[in-house]
Amino acid sequence: MIQPTRAQMAQLALLAAALASATGAGAAPPRRPEWGAIVRRVSGAGRAVALTFDDGPREPYTSQILDILADQGIKATFFLVGENVRRYPEVVRRIVREGHAIGNHSWSHRSLASVSWEVARREIERTDVLIRAVTGRRPFLFRPPYGALGSQLAGPDGLAARERHLLVLWSVEVADWSTRSPLRVAAGTIRRVSPGSIVLLHDGGGPRGHVVTATRWMAGHLAREGYRLVTVPELLGIASARR
Ligand SMILES: [Zn+2]
Repeated sequence: MIQPTRAQMAQLALLAAALASATGAGAAPPRRPEWGAIVRRVSGAGRAVALTFDDGPREPYTSQILDILADQGIKATFFLVGENVRRYPEVVRRIVREGHAIGNHSWSHRSLASVSWEVARREIERTDVLIRAVTGRRPFLFRPPYGALGSQLAGPDGLAARERHLLVLWSVEVADWSTRSPLRVAAGTIRRVSPGSIVLLHDGGGPRGHVVTATRWMAGHLAREGYRLVTVPELLGIASARR
C-alpha cells in the first residue's frame, strides 16, 4: 500500500475538520480523516467556488483551460482518467506544477456501480499508481465516473474508504457534454453557483472547445461577482479555518 505523504496528511487533517463541520459531526475534529465521505458542496467557505474538470487530460482543451486559469490567476481541480494520464503525462505534470488539484476518475471511465469489488478496486488503484509515478503525488480525491456510487464505494467500509479517498461529487452541473454552446455553459453555471459550490465541467470525453470558451467567460464574471475560484482541497481548508 502506498502511504500519503506528510504534506497530504496535514492537508487531510484540515479536510477532516471541514467534513466534520459540513456534516454536523460536532466541534472536535475526528481522530482520523473520514475516508469514503461524500462531498457535494462545502458550507462555511464564504464566496469561494471550485471549478472541476473531468475526463481529461485531452488536448488541446486541457492546455487551453490551463492557459486561461493562469491568465486569470485562479485554481481548479482536474479529475483524471488513467488512460488519458498515460497519453498526456506532460499535461498532468503541468496541472500540478501550476498549483491545481488532481483527483482520480478511474482508469477507463466505466461505471463502477455495476462491476465487482475487485474490478472497481483495480480501476482506482491502477490510476493512483500511474498518477503517483507521473507527478510524485498519490491523489486522495476520487470522483466516480457518471457520479455512480453503487453500493460498494461510499461509507466507512466502502471501497473509497479502503483506498483512502474522499468521494467528490458536485452541486452544479450544466450538461456541458450535451451542448456545444459556450453561452449555455457559462450562463447556466453562473445562474446556479452559490458560495461553496462545486461545479462539474469536462475537459475530456469529446470536443470541448465550448467548455474552454465558457471557462474564460464565467471565470471573469464570477471574479467580478466577488467569488474566489479555488481547488476542492482549498475549499475544504477555507471552511475548516473559519469554523
Ligand atoms: Zn467523467
